[in-house]
Amino acid sequence: MSIFQLEPGVVARCLFCRQNAVSVRELKGRTFDLRDEYDLRFDESMCAPVCAKCGDIYVRGASLRRFSDVLERLYDERKRAAVEDFVAVIDHDFSDVPRHRWEEVLGVSAGYVSRLQKGSRNLSGPLEVLMRGLTRAPLETLRIIGYSRRLPAALAARVK
Ligand SMILES: [Zn+2]
Repeated sequence: MSIFQLEPGVVARCLFCRQNAVSVRELKGRTFDLRDEYDLRFDESMCAPVCAKCGDIYVRGASLRRFSDVLERLYDERKRAAVEDFVAVIDHDFSDVPRHRWEEVLGVSAGYVSRLQKGSRNLSGPLEVLMRGLTRAPLETLRIIGYSRRLPAALAARVK
């Protein structure tokens, strides 16, 4: 019997780590990495053969498509949240600073944040790191950015 069609309760040898540790398990609640996003928590109920030792998952065909679709959705949600959380902080805590000043700070063109919000641009890993820093610890992150570029006057005054 193929490891991909394992029956619940049956244990098989892992093709990757060779341990006798593959059995059908629930994926919901497990975390996975996809490209530049880490620890995406699988949030749908789906069972698949998983190795308890090395974590290898045995999915193909329709199961692989479903597994990938969930991870791609979680990936998009993570990226969208980074942009929305950033916008919420700058709109709320820095309402006196125009959006294009923040775009200067981030080193992107005017209107770029709006394009990220609309989804017509993809959020790169480095820009996401900056945005998450500014969201969680705005003044500390601005201070660090200030080491490499001149901050707009309104923001430089806040950091002093
Ligand atoms: Zn394994």
